[in-house]
Amino acid sequence: MAVLDIVLYPDDPLTKKAAPYDAVGPEVVQLAADMYETMAAYDGVGLAGPQVGVSRRILVAHPPEGEPICLVNPEITDMQGRVEGEEGCLSLPNVYAKVPRAVRIHVRALDERGAPLDFEAEDFLARIIQHECDHLDGIVFPDRLDILSREEVLHEFEEVRRRMREEAQSRLGVACSSAHPL
Ligand SMILES: [Zn+2]
Repeated sequence: MAVLDIVLYPDDPLTKKAAPYDAVGPEVVQLAADMYETMAAYDGVGLAGPQVGVSRRILVAHPPEGEPICLVNPEITDMQGRVEGEEGCLSLPNVYAKVPRAVRIHVRALDERGAPLDFEAEDFLARIIQHECDHLDGIVFPDRLDILSREEVLHEFEEVRRRMREEAQSRLGVACSSAHPL
């Protein structure tokens, strides 16, 4: 197992529609194991393929009071109710917003071994699955807000990324000066 790198918005393939799996083989079991480990390492409750650079229709979810699950080729076949709840995203760290989602959903998918799943999810698990399914269509949570709030959150994240780049560069500067002491 391995902790994978997280792709940050708007880098590839985060804003692209991910391709479905034609068949579920051992490489999917391996990817799911790596995604479970990555989700845990980053303290996330969900993670989708495009967030780890894999543009395929796979996601993992781990609600605080539940078992981790992997959904391959998931489809939300029914949605009921609507509620706003706070969301963040490992691909847009340090920004949050209240996002409207369905309260209850019906889901059809395969698990990482190819077994069919057909279930109802509600509340937080339903929210996680809707957020992660959006990633499979190249959609991030600010895209679910009204246009002004979307701009505001994305602008805030541009600032976060600028600071992250500056911090990375200053670390690189220290590393370079110690490696080349001239
Ligand atoms: Zn996300």
